[in-house]
Order: sequence, then C-alpha cells, then structure tokens
Amino acid sequence: MEVFREIQGLRHFLSAYKQQRKSIGFVPTMGALHQGHLELVRKSMSQNDITVCSIFVNPTQFNNPSDLEKYPRDVDADLAKLEKISCGVVFLPDVDEMYDKEIFVNIHFGYLENVMEGKFRPGHFKGVGLIVAKLFNVVLPSRAYFGTKDLQQLAIITQLCRELLFDIEIIPVQTVREPDGLAMSSRNELLSSSERPQATDLYKALLFAREKLIDKESVESVKKNVRDFFESDSAVELEYFEIVNTDDLQNISDIGEAKRVSLCLAGYLGKVRLIDNISLY
Ligand code: AMP
Repeated sequence: MEVFREIQGLRHFLSAYKQQRKSIGFVPTMGALHQGHLELVRKSMSQNDITVCSIFVNPTQFNNPSDLEKYPRDVDADLAKLEKISCGVVFLPDVDEMYDKEIFVNIHFGYLENVMEGKFRPGHFKGVGLIVAKLFNVVLPSRAYFGTKDLQQLAIITQLCRELLFDIEIIPVQTVREPDGLAMSSRNELLSSSERPQATDLYKALLFAREKLIDKESVESVKKNVRDFFESDSAVELEYFEIVNTDDLQNISDIGEAKRVSLCLAGYLGKVRLIDNISLY
C-alpha cells in the first residue's frame, strides 16, 4: 500500500495509471474508519484498477470548533485496516497541504444546502463541496464512492459534478449497520456505554415511520408520531425528521405515486450528533 502525504507525490504516482488509461476509484473519508468506510473501499477495488482512499478531517466543514476538536482520529489503526483489505493508495494530507492561508472560493448549493443538515450545520456543505472539489482535482478519479448514509452530501456532490463538469461517476453505497441496526459512524465511538443502546432509537423510528407510510398513514401524522416518540420515549433529542424526494431533497407532503422517497433524521444523544435515513421502498 502506497501512502502519500503530499499532492505532488500522489499526482506523480497516479499519472502512470492515467497514461495507461487505467481506472482510478476514489473514496474520500475523515478517518476513524469502520466497516461502512471499508465497504466503499471494497466496492471501489472491485470496479477499478487502483483505489485511492483519502483521510482528511476537513476543518472548513465543521461549523462547531469543539466538534472538530473532538472528532475521533486514529491514523495508525486506519492504515492497518486499509492495508488488511489491500487498498492500493492512501492520501493523508495535512491542512496546509489542502488549503492556502486565505480561502476566497465559496461554493453555494442553493436550497440543497439550506435544508436538513444544512439548516442545523450552517456552512457545512460549502466546506464539503470545496474539499471534495479539491480532492477530485488532485486524484482525477474515474469513479468516486459515497455512502447513502450522508444522503444530502450525496445530492450535493452529484450537483457539484454536474455543474462543474467533473468527468467522474458518483457511486452511492448502501449504509452499513451494526447488528442492532445503528448506522455505523465514526461518531459512535464517542457514545458512552449507557448511550450506545439508546442510539438504536434513530433506526427504530425510521422503520416505524416507513411501516406507517406503507400502511397509507398520512405524512403529517407520521411526522407527528415520530416527533412525539422522541419527545416522550427516547433519550435522543430530535433535531429534524423529514420525508423527502431522494434526488432533490424537496419535502413530500403526500406520498401518492412518489417512487424515490427517503426518511431522514438527526438528533443528539448527550453531546453526540447522529444522523440516519432509509428509503421508503
Ligand atoms: P466520513 O468519514 O464520515 O466523512 O465518511 C466517508 C464516507 O463514508 C462518506 O461517503 C460516508 O457517507 C460513508 N459512510 C459513513 N458511514 C457509512 C456507513 N455506515 N455505511 C456506508 N457508508 C458510510
């Protein structure tokens, strides 16, 4: 496994693959790797000649400085996990390698960045868009892999590629879950042992809501039931629960004939912020 900390070395290494028209798969991450991340890497390895996994805790996407500080980091363990599954290349830049002292470029995503996650994490998606665009320009991948766990991020990156004409195929990968249903997340490491079992409430609420919608209960009533559940029966403090069109994230008020519908929520368990979503069908 090749490990690069500098853009120049990585570009030079990948140029040989480009010249031979070999496909490059790319998996951007912020580290503290779990099976969800590794699933993205495996998928990329199965579809490309070489796979690059980046590990970079991107400061510009954290609206809350203490969240950035607390974000779990364990580079040695990450490298061991990637080596074990025979990932080809790891890119491990530091902040100065990725950012100039001053940042002038600011990418807006319109309403896509103002709903759900964007509403509660102002500026988050501008930071995501900027770092992913930079990483795309460094790696120049043929395909890039993103988890559907971060559904809004996937929509933002898809839009970024469309509008900035990146010639990259975006491949969504299904959420990998713990046996009890909790979506794997680097942030799960921050949960205390008493909080950990309570974290399954997010997935349970999503399954409950899906069942009710399939039984033709109205969107309004399902939303109310979910909110009531978190208010009275859960330690999770709900931030939002939305039922949206999967592609453009617009709220859906009546399921009707809609085919691509996602149920999305976020909440705090103690100081840890968790998100999850499932599709209706
Ligand atoms: P992160 O390190 O949290 O920025 O995540 C890096 C990539 O892994 C993103 O595309 C995430 O959507 C994806 N990812 C995170 N958790 C999971 C999971 N449980 N299953 C599948 N993909 C995931």
